[in-house]
Amino acid sequence: MKYDTALFAEHLQKMCRIPTVSSADPDKTRVSDFLELHKVMEECWPLVHEKMTREVIGKCGLLYHYKGTGKSGKLPLMFIAHQDVVPEGDWSMWKYPPFGSEIHDNAIWGRGTTDSKCNIQAYMDALTLLFEEGWEPDYDIYLGFGYNEEIMGGPGAAAPMIVQTLKDRGVELGGLIDECGGIVEKNGKRYADINICEKGYVDVMFTALDQGGHAASPEKNNALVKLAKTMIALDENPMPPFMSPVVVKQFKAQHEHGLIDNAELDALCGDVEGNWDKIVAVCEKDRYLNAMIRTTTAITMCSGSAQANIIPEKATLVVNNRILPGQTIDDLLAHFRKLVPEGVEISVLKGDDPPAEQSTESELFKNIAEVVEELYPGTPLIPTMLTGGTDSRYYCGICPTNSVYRFTGLLQDGRSGGAHQVNEHICLDHLEGDVRMYVSILKRYGK
Ligand SMILES: [Zn+2]
Repeated sequence: MKYDTALFAEHLQKMCRIPTVSSADPDKTRVSDFLELHKVMEECWPLVHEKMTREVIGKCGLLYHYKGTGKSGKLPLMFIAHQDVVPEGDWSMWKYPPFGSEIHDNAIWGRGTTDSKCNIQAYMDALTLLFEEGWEPDYDIYLGFGYNEEIMGGPGAAAPMIVQTLKDRGVELGGLIDECGGIVEKNGKRYADINICEKGYVDVMFTALDQGGHAASPEKNNALVKLAKTMIALDENPMPPFMSPVVVKQFKAQHEHGLIDNAELDALCGDVEGNWDKIVAVCEKDRYLNAMIRTTTAITMCSGSAQANIIPEKATLVVNNRILPGQTIDDLLAHFRKLVPEGVEISVLKGDDPPAEQSTESELFKNIAEVVEELYPGTPLIPTMLTGGTDSRYYCGICPTNSVYRFTGLLQDGRSGGAHQVNEHICLDHLEGDVRMYVSILKRYGK
């Protein structure tokens, strides 16, 4: 099997030249760009398109299917990623054009190189290499690529449509692999990071109404002021800390393998449950660790009247919340109701409770551990919680083996990066390892 980095790079470059930006306004998503991407994918991977059926789901979601011999009796394996990217941001701050896919300093530069077109490229190249060898897996394979992951779905979300399509056909998955995770190298240590859960997500709107009127004759405590009080109440009263089982599992595993950088936290994680109050105190001092121990609220949008001399008749405030596994949107709303001043209404714009924690005992998990050992001997597989969100949350309901994992073969050694920032880039040295990981997982799964 020939791992040809130049060819992998060429495929990824072609995909990243197409600005498949998703917009919070579904009508603004440029479908033509996604259709162009589909064409490029057909050109890059003809063998995959010959061996697998392909359907367009919704406006431009993709669902591929390979019908295996069925001899293994194994449930299908699915690989997912998203075709869309976040907006490129300020062009003047990019070292190279964001949709140029230029190669400099041994890396491809551009939006989508790491998040997550590299995943699509690696799945496709892995399957191509296997099909070229005459490989005939004895289980079914699905690929699912949505087009609005970056706007957290909302109306017309592609991933739930793909899930519904599979459900309608009675498909149950034996396992699923999505973006995120990888082989992390930090401070001279290496571990494989596999996300077995992620936080829930919900946007909540607060609305205050007022009689409004001319700004020349104001009254106290108008609609906007009520929301200002709401903001302060939310900021000063976050959700209390919560001991989420998945976080306990993560801290224990990281401690066991000496992977916690913060010495104070590391010492306490010898007994996570017993030292929980002290762990909370340490985590609250760091914004990233704080997100591990509580449901968070970020105050992000607020609007009043359209003009300076109009007192608003209606003012709105939107906050973005990430819910810790073990808690729910309802828990958060109950907390908010205790805090908001009279006259402020609370409504949910969009969101989902956290998905179920996935198994660390399943066959696919063990497969992945074996592959990691084969490719990176001595590297522990550490189950973690993702504080962000991915499309994989929608698939947990059709995976009875609880094997939905966010895991890639990408080496995270600081040479690739910049997802959602300017200067996103992927190091060419990382492409082969990613393809190799999927080839090994695919080969092993049927056994
Ligand atoms: Zn992503």
